[in-house]
Amino acid sequence: MPSESLQLHVIVVGGGICGLGCAIGLRRAGHRVTVYERYPANADAGAGIVLRPNAVRVLKQWDLDLDSVGALRYKIGALIDGTSLNVLLPVSLAEQADGLTQMNTTRSDLRMLLRSGVERNEEGRGSIEIIYGMEVVDYDADRPAVQFADGTWESADLVVACDGVKSEAINKIAGKGSPAIPTGFSAFRLLLSDAELKVVANEFIDNELISARFDKDSGTIWFATSPSRVFVWWTCRFGTTHAFDILIPDNETYASSEEWLAKCDQTVLLNEFSHWHPLFKRLLETAQEPLLYKVVDREPIDVLYKGGLVALGDALHPMGPYMGSGGSQSIEDAGVLEVCFTGLTDKSQISGRLEILQRLRVPRYASIQMGSTVRTDEPNRDVRFKEVFNTCRRWFQGEDQSHLENRMSFGAWIDSYDAREETRAVQKPTPHLVYTPCFAEYECARLEVPLDWNETNPGPRAAIAIIRLPAQVPVTNLRYGGAVLINPGGPGSSGVNEVLSRGKSFQSIADMRNTSLTLDDSLKYFDLIGFDPRGVNNSTPHLHCFPDAMVRQIWDAQASAEGLFESTDHSFNLMWARAKALGQACSDDGTGIAQFMNTPVVVADMVAIIERHGQWREQEARRLLNRAEDKSSDKTLAIMERTRWRRGEELLQYWGFSYGTILGQTFAALQPSRVSRLVLDDVADMGDYYRGDWMKNLLLADQTVDKFYEYCHQAGPSNCAFYSGSSAQDIKKRLDNLLRAIKEDPVPIGVSGIHGPEIFTYSDVILAIRESLYEPLDHFPRIATLLAALANPVSSSSAEVIAEHKSRADYRITHQSSGDGEFVPTAIFVATPPI
Ligand SMILES: Cc1cc2nc3c(=O)[nH]c(=O)nc-3n(C[C@H](O)[C@H](O)[C@H](O)COP(=O)(O)OP(=O)(O)OC[C@H]3O[C@@H](n4cnc5c(N)ncnc54)[C@H](O)[C@@H]3O)c2cc1C
Repeated sequence: MPSESLQLHVIVVGGGICGLGCAIGLRRAGHRVTVYERYPANADAGAGIVLRPNAVRVLKQWDLDLDSVGALRYKIGALIDGTSLNVLLPVSLAEQADGLTQMNTTRSDLRMLLRSGVERNEEGRGSIEIIYGMEVVDYDADRPAVQFADGTWESADLVVACDGVKSEAINKIAGKGSPAIPTGFSAFRLLLSDAELKVVANEFIDNELISARFDKDSGTIWFATSPSRVFVWWTCRFGTTHAFDILIPDNETYASSEEWLAKCDQTVLLNEFSHWHPLFKRLLETAQEPLLYKVVDREPIDVLYKGGLVALGDALHPMGPYMGSGGSQSIEDAGVLEVCFTGLTDKSQISGRLEILQRLRVPRYASIQMGSTVRTDEPNRDVRFKEVFNTCRRWFQGEDQSHLENRMSFGAWIDSYDAREETRAVQKPTPHLVYTPCFAEYECARLEVPLDWNETNPGPRAAIAIIRLPAQVPVTNLRYGGAVLINPGGPGSSGVNEVLSRGKSFQSIADMRNTSLTLDDSLKYFDLIGFDPRGVNNSTPHLHCFPDAMVRQIWDAQASAEGLFESTDHSFNLMWARAKALGQACSDDGTGIAQFMNTPVVVADMVAIIERHGQWREQEARRLLNRAEDKSSDKTLAIMERTRWRRGEELLQYWGFSYGTILGQTFAALQPSRVSRLVLDDVADMGDYYRGDWMKNLLLADQTVDKFYEYCHQAGPSNCAFYSGSSAQDIKKRLDNLLRAIKEDPVPIGVSGIHGPEIFTYSDVILAIRESLYEPLDHFPRIATLLAALANPVSSSSAEVIAEHKSRADYRITHQSSGDGEFVPTAIFVATPPI
């Protein structure tokens, strides 16, 4: 992983195929993983498993070689009548283009391989710790956290539930009432030795089919069937072992359960196959303690995460064994998880990554879950598959559906999938806007732009992360008003996060919804587009001012400890030196992005966004018009003209806040002919900003603080907790005295809840006041309460108020110095006004 990437702590629940796979994937992405498995390390379900090429591919990419555990390649097989041994259908399997094929193995061999991957020394990457014998009993999606049987909770940055079909996690994610339900079938799972079975085979020496079965130690598979019975038989473990999956209808006379280790009486098995060819009776007589597993599945669930909790593997998508895909899908999950969580630079990106995971995984596992409802012994399999494929189309609206033509195309789609590559492709930027659904109602794209807009030859590229809140009408509608670009300020704040958190409110203002019932065509509906300015948040390359996340945290902690300007006699010099050091580190971050991160360059990116939006609008209109019956009607032609991409002439509609108003004004100065409408909200003075001294900011901030004294005086002692004397001046004096006192004697805060011992300092007071200036009318009463509490810190209610503000202050300091844009603190810390 790149050293600057953020290392998350991830809890994985369950040490099965999904859990071990996810742990390996997450460690490869650089994270610290703790796996909790309820069983001891040596628990083993003696059952076989076949892995399809899509899973073998992920393992191979991880350098995990199934050959090393004796897995055998499955190339040929046969569908056989269980009573007569007649071959109903020979089966042959083509190798994939990359030479991969289905591999036959056992669950324990696969786990052994995954364990070897876990134990491998992966220098410079994350880490994995597996804790056996620890059962998780509950989940909290918001924190996120897991609870253990002793009642204690452990939280992490992300929790991945891989705890199989009975997982509680899915109820937290998808709501109550999502249990896996019995399919009506149970599965005996056996592993028998080749030596043992050769003795049996010798009793049927004249049967060519059986002799052939033992002649080669290849991975051939027999699917023997009769109505409601499926008997799958393959060799594995270097040809020394035979694996059997035997499916029968559930029966009240024996109890099966969804426990991998549940055993069953051999006589049940013998009775179930007494009417089959005698070979089967003899085979089954050698099975002493067969495992009996109740097969369950569930209607596909379209969400796989909530907050910081994600479910994968059987916890999310249990499926019948008829496509041999449950385990393979768990490994795909892990491969996609790895790529989604590679290269994180900020925790705020977690939800975006989970969104990509969901977008990629849902159509895959949901279709395969549906395909797995078609039993091998069903007489009308093709008809059933057709029904299933029709159901699956809903996951591929507007996309290629050729894989849903027939069983062959479906199988090819399952096997040829390269999970990790597909994930990379989704994250790859494109030179035009390719939107993919994200965050339920939004669409996301990554626009490729030159790193250097002045380049004469194509050079390095940057990717701008874009989110679109779609307009309430399609682009073809007369009332479609185009796109409004949003910038929330900073500089360096994330436009993507802004549209996600407040986009709907902005859109409803822009749309003038309250008048939408009128038929006035001049009232428009707008797309809202947020973008992460280059170098920031989800845009890449990301500006890195620190070699790794730990160094950044230490730097932040030092900032908190040293305090703001005027905290001590030497604080100005200290902050000046820190700002210069940070500036140097950011300018020379090795990615080359720093010299191309400034307002005029962002203006050029915005021109690219509006141009590409014009192109997208035209394409989108054509796509929608393709459905129109009369393509040459006046109406259609008018729509085409209205939505045409005006290449080189697309205009900007824009709404900027704070620094975003500087950006808007700069855009207007550099691209005056490109401006349609600008909304400048919380206006900053452009001349003041570009002169670099921020004098107006400081003076206006002081004037707003003066208003605090004035309003507090007007509010009187009953409405302003910090009221004092008989004039606003008296309140100012009281604050000056308080600041002086707290500079000398910071207020101690005892241990409370999850916080350790802390102190409330002069800098914390300044930060709290400064923060209140953004929304003074709302926040002044809160500040008054805080200041009053600081003036009388010994009372218990004061202690509570102070502690609460302290946690907000911590957030502000770290957020400013390590959040969206690392260049923010240089300006803000140096310029923090002496209030
Ligand atoms: C008859 C049959 C045949 C199959 N054949 C194939 C096949 O050929 N190919 C294929 O790809 N798939 C096959 N599958 C499906 C495959 O076995 C599952 O999809 C796969 O095991 C899912 O892996 P998992 O890690 O998600 O869940 P599991 O394998 O169930 O692992 C869950 C793990 O979590 C642990 N756990 C559970 N609860 C807790 C808790 N509360 N706290 C801590 N730990 C917990 C469990 O002990 C276990 O180790 C078959 C399934 C059946 C029933």
